[in-house]
Amino acid sequence: MVRIGIIGGSGIYRLIEDPVVREISTPFGEVKVYTGMFGGEEIAFIPRHGEKHEIPPFKVNYKGNLYAFNLLEVERVLATNAVGSINPKLEPGTIVLPHDLIDLTRCRNGTFYDGKTVLRVRGKEVGGVIHVSMTPSTYCPELRSSILAAAKEMGLHVIDGSVYVCAEGNRFETPAEIRAMSILGGDIVGMTGCPEVALARELALCYASIAIVTNYAAGVKSNAKLTHEEVMDIFSRRLDDLSELLARTIPRIPKERSCPCKDALREFLKD
Ligand SMILES: [Zn+2]
Repeated sequence: MVRIGIIGGSGIYRLIEDPVVREISTPFGEVKVYTGMFGGEEIAFIPRHGEKHEIPPFKVNYKGNLYAFNLLEVERVLATNAVGSINPKLEPGTIVLPHDLIDLTRCRNGTFYDGKTVLRVRGKEVGGVIHVSMTPSTYCPELRSSILAAAKEMGLHVIDGSVYVCAEGNRFETPAEIRAMSILGGDIVGMTGCPEVALARELALCYASIAIVTNYAAGVKSNAKLTHEEVMDIFSRRLDDLSELLARTIPRIPKERSCPCKDALREFLKD
């Protein structure tokens, strides 16, 4: 059993030294999962965009990735996301832990529960038409606390709470779209947070995201445009912090879950 899965976003394609590569067959396709020691225990790792960043956001096999974790009996999922900032206070280089999201994707299949598919979750069958709840916490509070405690131990400045807006892509947003997202309450924008968060909840997996701001979104600071080199420089320096943050978070994640995520399917699981 591997209790923790990590989904690496842009810039994180390898995490484990000498991993075991496992091809996991799921009803949603084959998924390559890397397992091995990281942060003091065996974990499972999936680079969301593939090892060579060959998979665009709209083609990521979100269902396959999370179902592969489910088959490995993972309970906790940590994800990383590179994001643009809608909120001008979040400058490039800032590390942010979102607490809520707005899904503005349009063309993605965002549920396991299409009325027909029957899944197995922790040894029990589940299927039909199921509407999971995104309250009381959109992201797992226990994972978020563990990340914040690890950041504090490192002396790493992390913003606790922000609203992640998921755009469909594949292009970047227009200035008018970013203004609209700001009015809606968004702080950061990316293309991969959804449906990942909801699919994790549909399998009763804990899920939290660590986002790195790589740039201001369109029109946010039109007079302070960063060069590509500056962005990449900020990003690569932050990647070391991000891997250390992940490694230090793992031992802080409680072995027993006492968050609401584990009960997301309680009334639907059949023996
Ligand atoms: Zn949880």
